[in-house]
Amino acid sequence: MKNYADISLNEYLKKYFGFDSFKGNQEVIIRSVLSGENTFVLMPTGGGKSLCYQLPALISDGTAIVISPLIALMKNQVDAMRSFTEEGVAHFMNSSLNKAQIIKVKEDVVSGRTKMLYVAPESLTKDENVAFLKQIKISFYAIDEAHCISEWGHDFRPEYRRIRSIMSQTGEGAIIALTATATPKVQHDIQKNLDMLDANVFKSSFNRANLYYEIRPKVNTIKEIIKFIKTNEGKSGIIYCLSRKKVEEIADVLKVNGIKALPYHAGMDSATRSENQDRFLMEDVDVIVATIAFGMGIDKPDVRFVIHYNIPKSLEGYYQETGRAGRDGGEGQCLMFYSHKDIQKLEKFMQGKPISEQEIGKQLLLETSAFAESSICRRKLLLHYFGEEYLEENCENCDNCLNPKVQFEGSEYLLLVLEVVDTVNERFKIDHTVNILTGTINSMIKSYEHDELELFGIGRDKPPRFWNSIIRKALIEEFLDKDIENYGLLYLTAKGREYMENPYPVEVTQDREYEEGEDDSMAITPISGGKGSGACDEELLAMLKQERTSLAKKLNQPPFIIFQDPSLEDMTIQYPVTLDELKNCQGVGEGKARKYGKTFVDLIKSYVDEKEIVRAQDMVVKSVVNKSGIKVFIIQSIDKKIDFKDICQAKNMDADALLYELESIVNSGTKINIDYHINQVLDEDKRDEIFEYFRSEAETESLDEAVEALGSEYTEEEIRLVRIKFISDLGN
Ligand code: ADP
Ligand code: MG
Repeated sequence: MKNYADISLNEYLKKYFGFDSFKGNQEVIIRSVLSGENTFVLMPTGGGKSLCYQLPALISDGTAIVISPLIALMKNQVDAMRSFTEEGVAHFMNSSLNKAQIIKVKEDVVSGRTKMLYVAPESLTKDENVAFLKQIKISFYAIDEAHCISEWGHDFRPEYRRIRSIMSQTGEGAIIALTATATPKVQHDIQKNLDMLDANVFKSSFNRANLYYEIRPKVNTIKEIIKFIKTNEGKSGIIYCLSRKKVEEIADVLKVNGIKALPYHAGMDSATRSENQDRFLMEDVDVIVATIAFGMGIDKPDVRFVIHYNIPKSLEGYYQETGRAGRDGGEGQCLMFYSHKDIQKLEKFMQGKPISEQEIGKQLLLETSAFAESSICRRKLLLHYFGEEYLEENCENCDNCLNPKVQFEGSEYLLLVLEVVDTVNERFKIDHTVNILTGTINSMIKSYEHDELELFGIGRDKPPRFWNSIIRKALIEEFLDKDIENYGLLYLTAKGREYMENPYPVEVTQDREYEEGEDDSMAITPISGGKGSGACDEELLAMLKQERTSLAKKLNQPPFIIFQDPSLEDMTIQYPVTLDELKNCQGVGEGKARKYGKTFVDLIKSYVDEKEIVRAQDMVVKSVVNKSGIKVFIIQSIDKKIDFKDICQAKNMDADALLYELESIVNSGTKINIDYHINQVLDEDKRDEIFEYFRSEAETESLDEAVEALGSEYTEEEIRLVRIKFISDLGN
């Protein structure tokens, strides 16, 4: 090996990468690699890990083998390398290459031109690749994202565990392992598995001083998010959700509320996904709503906020995801919404997985909820989790430091909880335990005769939620544990038994705000639903009705074809002044807004101006029609002229329910053609007569009036069918 001890690395830094100085401890790391020693690098995301192996690779003899988990990451890195060095200096080897490309790669490597060969772990284990690597001169091995080796990391990949044994076949060489996951457990796993306990370890601080951490109860979450984004208008941000469905839903609701947002998740086709990602990078949209699939390898330096709609599965994940904010050192707000329901959901997902995996998952989750509920400085806790001590008293950049919460000494309550669990022989779940404490009688309590217990009702002066939080505290303190396999029965740990013998003071945070948040479902209100909410503006309503009447006369159409009453009422609540806003009113679709809306919004505008009405528009969170729901199915079926009976059967509804849905569809301005069905069930004369009634006689859309006027010759169903046709034909 060359002697690199005295060479100036800055020259190379400038020449190859164009940087003037090293970041953090890059230089000592690089010298360690060049000296042929095993090197272990713990550096937060964005710290500049890649350069730690790229630079030494460029100036070493032979080819460095770089193992990296994701094809996309690999490709980015290789492209980046190629952009400031010459073609062929970096290559990757993975399943995406064709034969010709593979030959080219091998040629370059053998000729010595290639300094870095990126290999996916799956490819590394293939026999033909092992055989090839055996023949070449390897300068060193770089293992990026090395936490993938550990089951305790946030992204465990079993193939990573085979790296060491493959290396012994392909030829010895020093290792540099790099990760942004620095929990002591993961660190040890990596070093042990790669057989590099002797490595030089370089650990940077994981503190991200510019990030602000805040955790809020999951109540009115959508509204809170919209409010937050609106007060941070124009800034880039990411919202993370657990499920694809939620991603779509939230992206929709943000769009409807005038926020430039797009979804991103693994269920979308890859073209749309990368388009959405590009539009975010190009700042064509401000907000990306994503599952955690988004962000790996994304290097947008000026993401100003990261919102967690759901709690992440581990603190590690939380750190990584929030770490995508403020990479340029500027503002980075990290907001998480937290509820116990989310924890329960995640626990449910774990059921059925191997026990060892469950154990790990449970532990990681517990740590995350402990973090969320704690009233200690968030920064201190996070860094502690990474084995780093944060010495400041007050970081002045997290919710707990800026708004300290009240605490109380809770040992007396903890002991009561433990005693109850012990008394019932560790055979019951949280809710039953709470019922015993609060003295709540139900059939379960009765059948076990727990109302006879001495402890029954001993904590009835406190509400159930208080006891819930004490039990959670006991779980977090590991006095109790939950048997996930066994329905979550509470049992005492050794630590808990010890605590009962020798109790000591435990601070419990006095807050109940994380109690069950609402579900935030974004259902639509059907047009025929409840009349007048009472909040409507009678004066404006009268004006709007008048406008409707005169427009109806002009168009020679019944007024209700234009807008129905609930729509007008909603207009007096929302005060829409543009056609776009008008579309958000009940029962007003695209078509209706365009066709009839102009004079209405003009009228509302002058009314609002004249009365100096402060429109709540910004804070009125509009809901979205659930497009994926039953209505779309019906519309598509009608397009295909599917038999009504079959539609009902497919969606398990009766004829009346179908009519109801059809009415709601046409009322909100969507055109559908049900002639094929009407022709089946009604003869022409009858149909025309009903149609004519609505056309010229009817004063309202009322069904009762129609039945009365048309007489018993027509069934209600027939009238409704023709009325649907009528509204669709004329109104839309
Ligand atoms: P990590 O892998 O640790 O998350 P990267 O290797 O992707 O970080 O580097 C993060 C960013 O820092 C990149 O944009 C990279 O170009 C930049 N960077 C790395 N080293 C330096 C340096 N010495 N000076 C300036 N920028 C650097
Ligand atoms: Mg990296």
